[in-house]
Formats: sequence, C-alpha cells, structure tokens
Amino acid sequence: MQRNTVSTKKALVFLFSYLKKHAGMVMCGMLLLVAVDLCQLVIPKIIQKTLDLLSESQFTQGIILANALKILGLAAAMVILRFFWRLCIVGPSRKIETQIRQDIFSHLMSLSFSYFNKTKTGDIMALCINDLNAIRMASGMGLIGLTDALFMGSMSIVFMLTTDVPLTLITILPMPLIVFIMLRFGGMIQSKFKDVQESFGTISSKSQEAFSGIRVIKGFVQEEQELKDFVKACDEYVDKNMGLVKLWGFFFPIISFLACISVSLLFYFGGLSVLHGSLSLGKFMSFSFYIGLLVWPMMAIGWVFNMLQRGIASSKRIMELLETRSDVHVSAIADIKPQKNGTIAGSIRFDRCTFRYEPDGRDIISNVSLHIKQGTSCGIMGKPGSGKTTLLSLLFHLFPIAENSIRIDEADINDIPLSALRSAIGYVPQDSFLFSDTIANNIAFGTMDENCMPQAIERVAKLAAIHDEILRFVNGYDTKIGERGITLSGGQKQRIAIARALLIAPRILVLDDALSSVDAATEQKILKSIISAAKGITSIIVAHRVSTVMHCDRIVVLDEGKIIEQGTHEQLAAAEGFYARLFHLQKLSEEKVVP
Ligand code: ADP
Repeated sequence: MQRNTVSTKKALVFLFSYLKKHAGMVMCGMLLLVAVDLCQLVIPKIIQKTLDLLSESQFTQGIILANALKILGLAAAMVILRFFWRLCIVGPSRKIETQIRQDIFSHLMSLSFSYFNKTKTGDIMALCINDLNAIRMASGMGLIGLTDALFMGSMSIVFMLTTDVPLTLITILPMPLIVFIMLRFGGMIQSKFKDVQESFGTISSKSQEAFSGIRVIKGFVQEEQELKDFVKACDEYVDKNMGLVKLWGFFFPIISFLACISVSLLFYFGGLSVLHGSLSLGKFMSFSFYIGLLVWPMMAIGWVFNMLQRGIASSKRIMELLETRSDVHVSAIADIKPQKNGTIAGSIRFDRCTFRYEPDGRDIISNVSLHIKQGTSCGIMGKPGSGKTTLLSLLFHLFPIAENSIRIDEADINDIPLSALRSAIGYVPQDSFLFSDTIANNIAFGTMDENCMPQAIERVAKLAAIHDEILRFVNGYDTKIGERGITLSGGQKQRIAIARALLIAPRILVLDDALSSVDAATEQKILKSIISAAKGITSIIVAHRVSTVMHCDRIVVLDEGKIIEQGTHEQLAAAEGFYARLFHLQKLSEEKVVP
C-alpha cells in the first residue's frame, strides 16, 4: 500500500464531506450537549449562593429547599438531554461508517486486477475494520469530546473570571503547557497508530492465508511453523501497540498532573484570599467546582486530540485506496458506442501482443500473434509457467493492454466496454472458486436473472456431466456448498464451474485447465457435449493432456510467453516438437495402464 500521499487537509475535507450529509442531526446533538454543559455550569453558582446565604445566616428552609430542587431539576434535565445528544451524534457516526464502508466496497469492485495483485487481503480487511472504527470514533465521540472540551473549558473560565479575575489567571497558568504537549505528541501518536494498523494487516493476511491453505499446511506438517510465524506477527503487533500505549501512557498522566497543579494553585491562593476575607467561602467553593469542571476538558483535549489524530490517519489510508484508479482504461467512445449493438461475435486476434506484470521486469507474453476465427476452437499447451493463464487474463482485459494488440471482432479491446466483453466470455478458471451457497445459485451466478429457470440450470449441468451426481445429494440442486455445507471433490467443482460458464450462453468459452481433475472418460463426454452445444462459439481450451485439446481446430504451444508450435493435432503430432513428445509420452502411459 502507498504511504502518506494524502495531506491532513484533504483527509479533513474527506471526513467533513460525510459529516455534511448529517449536519442537521449533528448540530442538534451539539446544541443538546451545550445545554447539558450549561446545566453543569449553573449548579456551582447555585451552590455558591446557598453557601454565601448560609454563612451570612440569611437563609430560610424555603430557600434551601428551592435551591435543592433547582439542582435536582437540572440533574433530571441533564439525563434527558444526554440521552438525546448521544442519539443525535452517535447515530450519524454509525451511518458515516456504513457509508464509507459501502464506498470502499464499491470502489474495490471497480478496481482492476493489478490492485489485488499487489495488495494483501489482510491490508484491505484492516482498512475495513480498524480504520473505519477509528473514523467512527473520531466522527462520534471525537466530535462530542471536542465540543464538550471547548465549550465547557471556555465557559468554566468565563464563570471563574466573573468570580475572581486574578485567581482565575493564576489557576489556568498550566493551560498553555497542555497545548504545547498536545502539539508535540500528536504527530508521534499518528505515526505509531499507522504502524499498529499495518501490523494488524499482517496478522489478518497471515490468518487468512493459513486458513485458506490449511490443507497444504497439514499436508506438509507445518502447523508448528505456521504457529511460530503467527506468534511472531502477533508479538510485533503487541510491540507496536505497546509503543503507542507507552506514548499515550506518558501523555495522559502529564495532562492529569498539570490539572492537579491548577487545583493546588487554587487551594493555596484561593485559601489565602478566604483567610484575608477578600473571597467568600461560597465563591471559593464554586471556584473549586469550576476547576473540577475544567479538569475534564483539559484531559479531554488530549483524549479527543488522540482520537482525531487516529481518525485523520485512518482517513488518509482510506483516501489512498479511494484515490487508486483502475489501470484498465476503456476508451470514452466505448461507453457511447458499444460493440455492434452490444453483442460480440467471437473472433479473437492477438497481434504482436507483449505483456509483463508490474513491477516484474520480464516479458511474460512475448510478441504473440494468433488469430482464432469465430466459431473455431483453439487448444493451448505448454509447460507450467509458460504464460497460458496470463494470455487468457489478457483476453478478459484484467490488465492494461497496448493499443490494438488484442482485437475482438476486429475492434481494439481497449474500445470494448468491460461489461460487454466479460459477459460474452464464459470463463472456467484453474481454481474453480465456488461460493458458500447452493449448487443452483453457484451455477446461476453469472446470470442477471434472479429467477433463472431450474430447467436451464439442469441443462447446463447435464452438458457438464454433473447432473446425475447433483441428484445424488439429498437436497439436489439446493445442496449448500462450502462452509457449513458439503465439500465437493475437485472434479465436481470443476464441472459446476463449467456449467456456470455455459449458462451465460457465452460467445467465447475459455477453459483454463478446467478438466484436469476429471477422469479421461468424463473429460471426453464433457468435450463432446460442449462441442455439440457450443456450435458457433469460439472456444479456447488450456490443458496439460493432449486428449483434451486434440480435437481442437488449432493447437498452440507456448514456451516462455512465445508461440513455439501451432497447427492441427495431426500436424503437430507428426512434427518433432514439444507436442509430439508429450503426445507419445501420454500415449505410452495410457497403453501401460490399459494393456
Ligand atoms: P501457466 O498458466 O502457463 O502456468 P502463468 O500465466 O500462470 O503460466 O504464469 C506465467 C508467469 O507469470 C509465471 O512465471 C508466473 O510466475 C508469472 N505470474 C503469473 N501470475 C502472476 C501475477 N498475478 N503476478 C505476477 N506474476 C505472475
């Protein structure tokens, strides 16, 4: 993730853009909060008057009762006012959190594959949990604390000034020191908080990877090593947190200490004034109440400052993400003039296509030229890492593509709207990812139609040779897959993924090693039914078995991103290249299995 590209001013503008939407409610909450503060500020005045009357022996039972009732009335009013300000300020902060979360999600959905290629999932999760939490705290409790501290602080001083000016000036002497400490510690707290968030991102990534790769971990008996790595990441997180705790732990008591100095100054100088008779006992008492009221804002300033710093640091991180733009650009004309009335026929042309992953310096696809006519099939073979999957991902425009190096129906891929392009391609990836949902919903995933007909789902499941197996499950097509559902075999997953691709009636069908986990007989059955059902469809089949691609109209062999052989099965089998060697090897092993 990029570092510190967003200024504090921009982060504040960002926060206010969300706050603005709830301005009425927030203002109302602030007014109620101010009303609570006023009630609190009036109480010492009532106490002052009562005490002065008591010392002057001018009191009556009626006056004391009236004053006691006034205090009770104010306390009761504060209960109601506090309830409503909480509602008015905390409510919007929850809404702001939700709105930013939705904006992040929708932005993430719009980003190209390159972003996910270089960003750890844990970092994204930390952003959606911790940083949003910090923003909610800053826009809720932070705002409350700020209003409270500023209003209560300044009004306490005003009330003190109306009581005794010199004593007020003496007792608030430690205040400038608090401002100084706030400024000194603020930046340090912000940077330490950022370290903590990043460290949390590492922990999230580690746990996510460990759970998704649990089979591999168990298979290689690496549980202990994984635990060690996890503990190390957790220790780092604790260390980073302790750095923050120490800083905060140092900051907070200093502020409390300065507040205590104010109280000591009052007791010394105020006490002397009472002794000399220049200050009444009532005023001294109300003064001590105001100092008490002032201590909270003095400490709250530090607390609020910390919370706002965290909120700003988190807003910066979220803005960095929201400002990240997709590096896959589709020409502006594409939005206005979609491909021939929005449909794609299916001819594909790679024209001296070259590609490399950023920031890797090596060409993964190198000068590939290939024309796959509409309605024909093309098999792609090659050693692992030769660039087969990468070539397919270019067809999806997952990464930026040089002008005119890939053409679909003779139109530059950069001019075709992504939605039109991708909805024309039925894609079965190497890892057939299925969602924790029913089998039927997994097959219907790519269709916009929420009420996709069961017959349509069954038809494609039959084509993918999985229908009978689905019926063997107790709940048939309504069987839940994944977490808290059943686990499917690799071959079953692959066939469901094939059915899902077929259901969208694609113009181009792409199978990326999608039959590797099914047995040879089922593979031939699926290929046969796909070929008959997919008449007129362009298909690209990546495979490691010759049997998967041998019936394709054309077969291409890739090596280090270059086409090293191409032709029909007969042509390639007769040549003395990679394909022929593989063909003979696989034929030999089949003969050994079936004597
Ligand atoms: P194949 O499908 O033929 O096995 P791939 O297209 O998956 O080959 O990979 C070709 C090369 O590109 C490999 O060296 C691989 O390490 C690299 N590669 C694949 N995917 C990525 C990626 N997302 N980011 C960076 N490098 C990648």
